[in-house]
Amino acid sequence: RPRVLSGIQPTAGSFHLGNYLGAVRQWVALQESHDAFYMVVDLHAITVPQDPKELRANTRLAAAQLLAAGLDPDRCTLFVQSHVPEHAQLGWLMNCLTGFGEASRMTQFKDKSAKQGADRATVGLFTYPVLQVADILLYNADQVPVGEDQRQHIELTRDLAERFNGRFGETFTIPAPYILKETAKIFDLQDPSIKMSKSASTPKGLINLLDEPKATAKKVKSAVTDTETVIRFDPENKPGVSNLLAIYSTLTGTGIPELEQKYEGKMYGALKTDLAEVMVDFVTPFRTRTQEYLDDPETLDSVLAKGAEKARAVAAETLAQAYDRIGFLPAK
Ligand code: ATP
Ligand code: MG
Repeated sequence: RPRVLSGIQPTAGSFHLGNYLGAVRQWVALQESHDAFYMVVDLHAITVPQDPKELRANTRLAAAQLLAAGLDPDRCTLFVQSHVPEHAQLGWLMNCLTGFGEASRMTQFKDKSAKQGADRATVGLFTYPVLQVADILLYNADQVPVGEDQRQHIELTRDLAERFNGRFGETFTIPAPYILKETAKIFDLQDPSIKMSKSASTPKGLINLLDEPKATAKKVKSAVTDTETVIRFDPENKPGVSNLLAIYSTLTGTGIPELEQKYEGKMYGALKTDLAEVMVDFVTPFRTRTQEYLDDPETLDSVLAKGAEKARAVAAETLAQAYDRIGFLPAK
């Protein structure tokens, strides 16, 4: 079985629709066919300021949402990044292989640091793509299921893996991105020129999965479209409508051409009303299941403890090999 690895930040409040469609949905599917490792990346979360109590709660909340979305701890390894210290350890090695200019070219860092103001951005934020490299290489992942915004980081991972292998001998698997075209980038409902994101979206353009379903329906119904009246998939000229069609198609498993046919001659309002219903049908049981997992923190924590144990077994072996190759004296 080929191996996959991916991670998600413990976001305050809730995952958003972009996280689910762009990443988590694929994680659920891939656990059937792949040796799958998924983690809540709390080390990445602290690249921006976090309140300790909230971070702890949000880490459990993220795990609960992943289980509610369909991850099955019997079929995948689900863990918290900080429970596996090898991430930080291999991260340091990777920092020492990365060029300063190379790291400076990461667009996610540029976007995020610009938003914070250059003076406030931390060194951790600067090197978080390099930590991500370590996350992936520790498990020798073959594929990394993520959204389009992560493509550059997978490219960096490949470069660094090749660099390490070239200098020190074959050590790491070169991973490939696993990015599905239709859901690679879900856009903000109010501004379909930007990706839906917890840090950049407008409140009305961001669908949080755990929000009141009524509020979600309202956001869908007030999504920005265009001045035409044709329901057609055309991301370049009709980004708003195309975004709605992509979401609708993925959540219902209906092909886009079929949807175009269904809405031929109909108004945008009809599409939005139907999509609002689809969304409510999706988020309502998701909220209930998430709450059930949160109500039983002992079970949740023991799922994560078992996951960390499985993850560590793999990570420790890879790290030991990397330490050896790089020339560290073994501790006797
Ligand atoms: P931030 O803005 O702080 O980076 P985020 O909303 O991107 O937060 P992450 O935890 O960084 O959330 O992302 C988790 C996964 O969701 C990643 O694989 C990312 O590529 C994917 N993802 C995030 N936003 C979208 C989106 N709008 N469309 C598709 N995939 C997305
Ligand atoms: Mg992100």
